[in-house]
Parts: sequence; structure tokens; C-alpha cells
Amino acid sequence: MQSNNSKNTIPSFFTSVSRNFWDAAKLTEHPKGLLEQINTCNSVYHFTFPTRKGKGEYEVIQAWRVEHSHHKLPTKGGFRYADNVHADEVMAMAALMTYKCAVVSIPFGGAKGGVKINAANYSVEQLETITRRFTSELINKNFIGPGIDVPAPDYGTSAREMSWVADTYQAFHPGAVDAPACVTGKPLSQHGIQGRKEATGRGVYFACREACNIEEDMKALGLSPGLEGKTAVVQGLGNVGYHAAKYLYEDGVKLIGLIEIEGGLYNPDGMDLEDVMQYRRSKGSLKDYPGAKFIENPSDALEIECDILVPCALENQITHLNADKIKTKIIAEGANGPTTPDAENILTKKGVLIIPDIYCNAGGVVVSYFEWLKNLSHVRFGRLGRRFTESTNAQLLRAIEVTSGVKFSDEIIKQIARGPDEGDLVDSGLEDTMILAYRETHKMWTKHDKKITQRTAAFINSINKIAQSYLDLGIFP
Ligand code: NAD
Repeated sequence: MQSNNSKNTIPSFFTSVSRNFWDAAKLTEHPKGLLEQINTCNSVYHFTFPTRKGKGEYEVIQAWRVEHSHHKLPTKGGFRYADNVHADEVMAMAALMTYKCAVVSIPFGGAKGGVKINAANYSVEQLETITRRFTSELINKNFIGPGIDVPAPDYGTSAREMSWVADTYQAFHPGAVDAPACVTGKPLSQHGIQGRKEATGRGVYFACREACNIEEDMKALGLSPGLEGKTAVVQGLGNVGYHAAKYLYEDGVKLIGLIEIEGGLYNPDGMDLEDVMQYRRSKGSLKDYPGAKFIENPSDALEIECDILVPCALENQITHLNADKIKTKIIAEGANGPTTPDAENILTKKGVLIIPDIYCNAGGVVVSYFEWLKNLSHVRFGRLGRRFTESTNAQLLRAIEVTSGVKFSDEIIKQIARGPDEGDLVDSGLEDTMILAYRETHKMWTKHDKKITQRTAAFINSINKIAQSYLDLGIFP
């Protein structure tokens, strides 16, 4: 764990999250004991298990699952594979999950998991063995289950790992009809849901769109309202970063900076995202991409002047050590904890608007919630009503034709009458959730005359909701 004794060290991630929590908590009137209960991690499970690396060689793998809050069940949160995972980081991310779920009104407590490996150093077979062993440890300790704790993908994991988790859980629970709801972010063929893969990045896009649509806030930043024509720099082109960049690009944002682990690309005229992705896939690096300047040090690329900086890699990317050099107007936190509290102080003084992680990257857990509901109800969204809606709409259009004398083309009828399928409903639910949560956060921010940060505003709303559920239980009369 890092300490903040020296001027140059960065506080531990959990310390930063707690600091953000208490900055908001002191603006509420809840009893101190209740606030301490909300802030604390309820259960921290650290375990190790061996895995075979080669002929006669073994490696001891370290793993964690943290359930931060049981005020709502199940607890929910992804698990990451990274070689720098440690207890403090997993605790911080589990806490963020609690606050995030409350911000977007999703009825889950927060959790998170981590396995200390660099996935790139293991074969697919080894990763499968590790994931299945990780899952069986969670089963043994009652740290997984549709009503207990439901993991999802995070940094270094994807739908593939989630399908191994679900399959292992089902093998241990023969006949459990709700078993697929033990994990979300699964492939579609394995009880997953349309739109989960892109959900977090799509949510980041909705968050940026909502923030940029408020004329008064844009005026304060010296920007015009709307996304069209704004410039963006995106850090991390994995699941969250790629999808955030894609939807911003499709809505007219110019991608002038794209940063990966090996360095960043800069082109003030903007870049074609798919072309860059294709180049990186074929060459294994962004280096020498034609038509853009390559910046060797990825953290230097964060300093490119732009309207929106979208960090989507890891925590502690923007700290008191580089905050002064960041030249953006808006930071949309796709990653968890990319900005430390000290950096936020510096940036806020410079007038930068930070859309905080506990709201900005909540799209993943929103759609995970829909997947969990789908698994429990055993039916795809839209399956029962789509055709009925379609025929009712078509009849309505025919009636309009008869009364108005206007004839609609078959194409128009098809478009307007169309009943929603699962993808449409998931996207609509995600968009609605992101809009409502932004409005709620903005209202609290405005209530404090915008003298607090949007993060503090989101934390206050979150704390109020969690406190209410404890108070309604009569635990803190
Ligand atoms: P991912 O593994 O799919 O992608 C992360 C990408 O970041 C990788 O391509 C990696 O090479 C790159 N990267 C790592 N260090 C970098 C650096 N210093 N500079 C530039 N690029 C770097 O992970 P992800 O699922 O996209 O998660 C990214 C972040 O978003 C994490 O903080 C995660 O906790 C958060 N998050 C993810 C989800 C989700 O649904 N996956 C949901 C909410 C929040």
C-alpha cells in the first residue's frame, strides 16, 4: 500500500475513495456510525491456489474477492486479471461499486475481485484452469451465487472468462435453474444479453452527451453545447475505451488522441478509430501508424490539448504530479479511479469539469442488472410483446392513412411500426438510467451552487440512498 507521507507519493486507491466519500459525507446529516458502516468493507477474502506452469513447475496464484456492502443483495462487481492487483485496489473498486450502484439506482451492494496475473503471459488453457479454480474457491466460501455475489468482466477479463465462471458454478449446482444468474457479461449463447459488451463505453458516451448538452455548463468552460465538433483524447482502447471512442466518434467527436500501453497517437485533424484498431491488431502496436504523430510515453499523451479527456485504462493516471499539465476542459472517467483527489483539486481550480467514475462508467453494471433479470426470468426481453406492438402500430398507421388520405410507403410503415427487440430495450434502459442519474447528480451539484465537484454531488446522492435503506431496516434508528 502506498502512503501519502511524501509529496511525491500517491495515496492508496482505497484512501482516495474514502477521502471522496468523507468529503461528501460531511455535507450530509447522517449519524457518524452509519457513515462508517457505509464506508467500511464488509468482507475481504484473500486466497491462494497453485497452478501448473510447465512440466513439474507450479506457481502460487494470489486472488481476492471483496464484498464492500451488503445493504442490498446480491453484491455485484467485476473481477480483473492484472499483475499489480492487490487488496487495497480490490477494496477500493468494491467500494466504488457500492456507490455506483446507488448513483444509478441499481439494487445491488458493491463487490470486486482480482487475480494477480498478467493474462498475456498465460495460454488460454491456463487461463481457463485459473478461472475455474478461482470460481470453485468462491463457491466453497459462499462468495458467489445469483442471490449472494455476482461477478462480471473488468480489466483483463471478458465474456470468455464469464462463461467459464458460469459453467463451473453450474457444475457445482446441478439442477439450479437460476445458476446462469451467478455471473454477468456472459456470451450471448451462454445466457448473456445484447449490448453488455459495449454497455460501459456506451454509458460513457451518454454521460458525455448529457454533460455537453447543458448550455450553461458548456458556456462556463468556453465551449458550445453538444458533442459535434468537440475534440477528444481516449486512454486505453480495451472494452471501455474502444466503445466510448466509437460512440463519441459516431456522434461527431474528433478523436485527436488515442493512447495505449505502448504509446499514444496524436493527429489534430482527428483519426478513423476502426483504421487505428485494425492497424494495432495487425502490428501489435500503435507505433508507426501512418498519418499521426507517435508519442512514446503514454502518460505524456494525456497532456494533449482537447475538449474531452476520456481515461479508460486504470486508476491513478491523473495525479498531483501531472494534473497541472493536463489541458482539457472535461474529464469523463471511463476507468475506475483515474483521477486522485489531489489532482481533482488542482483541476477543479483550473475550471475542469470531471464527470466522476461512480456515474460515468456505470453503464456496465446497469446492463449487467438487465442480464441478471433476464437470467432470473428465463426469457429474452421483447420476446413476448415485440410482434404484438408491431401489429398494433401497423394498424394505427393504416387507420391514419384511411382518415388522412396519405399513403405511407412500406419502408416507413416497417420503420415506425417496428416492435423493440432485446438490443433496443437494453439500450433504451441504459440511456434512460444515464440521463436520470446525470440529472440527479446535476441537481445536487446545483443545490450546492456548483461549489462542490460533481463527484461530491454524486457521492451525496449515493450516501443518502444507502443510508435510507439502512434506516428503513431499523438498523440505525
Ligand atoms: P480492458 O482490459 O478491456 O482494456 C484496458 C486497456 O487499457 C488495455 O487495452 C490496456 O492495454 C490499456 N492500458 C493499460 N495501461 C495503459 C496505459 N498506461 N496507457 C494506455 N493504455 C493502457 O479493460 P476494461 O474492461 O476496458 O477496463 C478499463 C477500466 O474501466 C478499468 O479501470 C475498469 O475497472 C473500468 N471499468 C470497466 C468496466 C467493464 O464493464 N469492463 C465497467 C466499469 C469500469
